[in-house]
Amino acid sequence: MSAHHPDDMVLLDYAAGSLSLPYALAISVHLCFCSHCRNQLKKLNSIGGVLLENTKPASLEDDAFDQLMAQLESDDTKGKTATAVKESPSLEAKTDITNPLLAYLPAPLHNLPWQQQTREISKYDLTGIINVRGFQVALQKIAAGAKVPVHTHKGHELTVILHGGFSDELGVYHAGDFIARDGSHKHSPTALQNEDCICLTILDAPIKFTGWQRIFNPFMAWH
Ligand SMILES: [Zn+2]
Repeated sequence: MSAHHPDDMVLLDYAAGSLSLPYALAISVHLCFCSHCRNQLKKLNSIGGVLLENTKPASLEDDAFDQLMAQLESDDTKGKTATAVKESPSLEAKTDITNPLLAYLPAPLHNLPWQQQTREISKYDLTGIINVRGFQVALQKIAAGAKVPVHTHKGHELTVILHGGFSDELGVYHAGDFIARDGSHKHSPTALQNEDCICLTILDAPIKFTGWQRIFNPFMAWH
């Protein structure tokens, strides 16, 4: 199971259908790997359903949300509710599952027409397909052991690892992990040694290289 998850407020937005398509896609991909978040989502949906059934808002006290959460946790431990989502081994076991992505990919992950960026980094751009203004959506492939030049972000960068893993200044990440970064982070991910790392990355502003590679910055600009 994944070790790095979106927070509950983001899951709540996802459940409410209020996330933009690229973010919702990232959550959907993470959910394929993560039984923990599937269960959280189920709970959040239950809460939403119960709140809707309580049609008298005046009867809801300030701590109604907490009470509901406690009730659901308690029912959960007694095994009385159906909040536990059935495990789906076929999704959990594979590391290259790209279930929500399949509709957008012309071939399996490793056979995509990757665009070589450097000797060790390639990209499959989905921005033109998942066409949401202001977002850059792409798959990135980093060769085993290779390092991405140090960079910061002007906006937000969401990453979901589809295959392999990487490490950076803040941790080590594996298939299924959901990583959210913003302009306050400066990092240089390095793929784990044993296999290529393939990630879904979503940017809402261009990344900015901070080392000598900053000469590339004008070429990374997009609109
Ligand atoms: Zn999760």
